[in-house]
Amino acid sequence: MSKQPLMRLEGVSKRFAKRLDTAEKIVNLLGGDRREEVVHAVDRVSMEIADGEVVGLVGESGCGKSTLGRVVAGVHAASDGKVYWRGKDVSTLSGAERRDALLKIQMIFQDPMSSLNPRMRVRDIVGEAPRVHGLISAGEVDDYVDKMLLRVGLDPNFRMRYPHQFSGGQRQRIGIARALAVEPDFLVCDESIAALDVSIQAQVLNLFMDLREDLGLTYLFISHDLGVVEHLSDRVVIMYLGRVVEVAPTEELFAGPNHPYAQALLDEVPRIDTRKRVFQPIKGEIPSPINPPKGCHFHPRCPHAFARCREEAPALREIAPGRLSACHLNDG
Ligand code: SF4
Repeated sequence: MSKQPLMRLEGVSKRFAKRLDTAEKIVNLLGGDRREEVVHAVDRVSMEIADGEVVGLVGESGCGKSTLGRVVAGVHAASDGKVYWRGKDVSTLSGAERRDALLKIQMIFQDPMSSLNPRMRVRDIVGEAPRVHGLISAGEVDDYVDKMLLRVGLDPNFRMRYPHQFSGGQRQRIGIARALAVEPDFLVCDESIAALDVSIQAQVLNLFMDLREDLGLTYLFISHDLGVVEHLSDRVVIMYLGRVVEVAPTEELFAGPNHPYAQALLDEVPRIDTRKRVFQPIKGEIPSPINPPKGCHFHPRCPHAFARCREEAPALREIAPGRLSACHLNDG
């Protein structure tokens, strides 16, 4: 891996305003005082992803991992903080440089059906972007699309078909072919296999790993399935309520998580003999990101919480080479 990270985030936050619905607007017309609320989906996240690395990003539903993935992929702009691509601040890029950077980062979504235009043939779904961006000429589209379909394990004879004529697994392969067609360096996979049958999941995971091997791709793999993350990732980043709480090499994390939230997650993971290793509920409800708890966000659910946890947010800091954790217990 090269020294300069492929991607670096520095204090990245993403906030969304929760607009007033019609009922709330009526309440205001009648003299009420309903105000827009702000959702702190991602809160000052700093992290690096090295060239060729596979980073698993995990956390319960609503923890901000999908939003962070979208910021990384350039789908959402950060509200605060900096995103660096190959050492360059993406907010300062413009024109061809910005377009090239964005093409190099592609996102693979959970539901291929909703991310593929149902009225477009596979030939156009896969061939349009590389043609528009000048990677190939109009005359090269058919051969190029065939090559992409073969690369993801699809029959090139399917080129003129529409998305609804494929199975879920095949549609996800079309989505992957579309991403590969613009020659990306980095794939952000957001629950990309979650909607597929278990046997098909394994096939698509193998495809991702073959592509990593063949094309030297880097991945941010967002998943709620700890078994998948353990199998695929070099490193794991754990998020809780918009913040990163632990970062560790995969083997070390699964051998001994540091952060009480990571411990709770892994405690709940059924071991090897049980096929599914997804999150089980941890005691207590996940608090609202509109009004997160003061101090350590995890304190209302943490069995080790003490007075300081309720007041002061713990910083994410190095606890061993390559390992970061955000917990006051590490202060000795
Ligand atoms: Fe628990 Fe306190 Fe550590 Fe937060 S900082 S995880 S509440 S012990």
